[in-house]
Amino acid sequence: KSLSTKNLLQRLINGDKVALSQSITLIESEQKKHQKLVDKLITKSLPHSGQSIRIGITGVPGVGKSTFIEAFGKMLIRKGKRIAVLAVDPTSSVSKGSILGDKTRMQSLVNEKDAFIRPTASGSSLGGVARKTRENIILCEAAGYDVILVETVGVGQSETAVHSMTDFFLLLKLAGAGDELQGIKRGIIEMADAILINKADGENQKAAKQAQMEFKRALHLYPEKKSKWTPKVKCVSSLNNYGISKVWDMIESYKNKTIENGFFHQNRFEQQKFWLYDSLNQKLKQNFYDNPKLKSKLKTYLTQIEKQEISSFKAADELYKYYLDLLNAK
Ligand code: GDP
Repeated sequence: KSLSTKNLLQRLINGDKVALSQSITLIESEQKKHQKLVDKLITKSLPHSGQSIRIGITGVPGVGKSTFIEAFGKMLIRKGKRIAVLAVDPTSSVSKGSILGDKTRMQSLVNEKDAFIRPTASGSSLGGVARKTRENIILCEAAGYDVILVETVGVGQSETAVHSMTDFFLLLKLAGAGDELQGIKRGIIEMADAILINKADGENQKAAKQAQMEFKRALHLYPEKKSKWTPKVKCVSSLNNYGISKVWDMIESYKNKTIENGFFHQNRFEQQKFWLYDSLNQKLKQNFYDNPKLKSKLKTYLTQIEKQEISSFKAADELYKYYLDLLNAK
């Protein structure tokens, strides 16, 4: 049975979850004939996209990401929102078992009619996963989801990828034994628009307050953000629903502020530019390395390099020249 783009698109725009799932499955497909359909679908979805708020969420396994997303998601649904949860987990394609993709996660949200949850996109590289997730965001928006959550485990560069496709970046942390500021990649703190100290309940409350203070102090040391937004540090308990609706209030005030000062749209445009260059770079590289003549040439040069007959730089120059000659000969 062949899928017509027109029909699929119509159902998608009407908010049909099955159509959204089918469309995302097409994006995941590696088949060339599906790729053409996808291009059409994305292009036609674009005018219907962009009106959501895109929120990135990161934190180590066990910090409470899925518990938070359930609490946060249900609160938003009560407010009449429709929410989509996507994930970027490049480990899933390597290990086949993913940290985030676990089917038992977010059970109560899965059953909500206004929630759409999709485990991580497949792909052989972070670049591939990230690209598909970007496209999934567009489709979710076209299907009328107003809040898009993109969750990541923070392996390798996955946080940077998620940051570059979202409007607001949330970092979930736990209060620790005085080592709050250790073991965090500096860059992550720099990306965060808010740090949530999760599990601020029971005996943990005091430690959470302490951690909150330390993070606040630490954040002062960072230069002002381009958004002019001062990152916030909040204590929450995802389990007890404590502080969860305040997180939404905060994100709304972020949106208002950055729309007003122009950053919101500027940032989205910068992100689009980034993805343009990123996918161009991918294509150029692929065109080079997939060429059979270049493949064998490259092998020859590698042998010569090993034997110290030519320098790496000279070899690169010559390989590139050979590539240009191939292009010109076409
Ligand atoms: P994830 O790996 O980051 O998605 O973490 P989970 O959401 O699966 O949570 C890991 C564990 O922490 C689970 O046993 C949760 O019940 C527990 N947990 C999550 N949030 C809270 C919280 O706010 N307070 C407490 N006490 N436990 C929590």
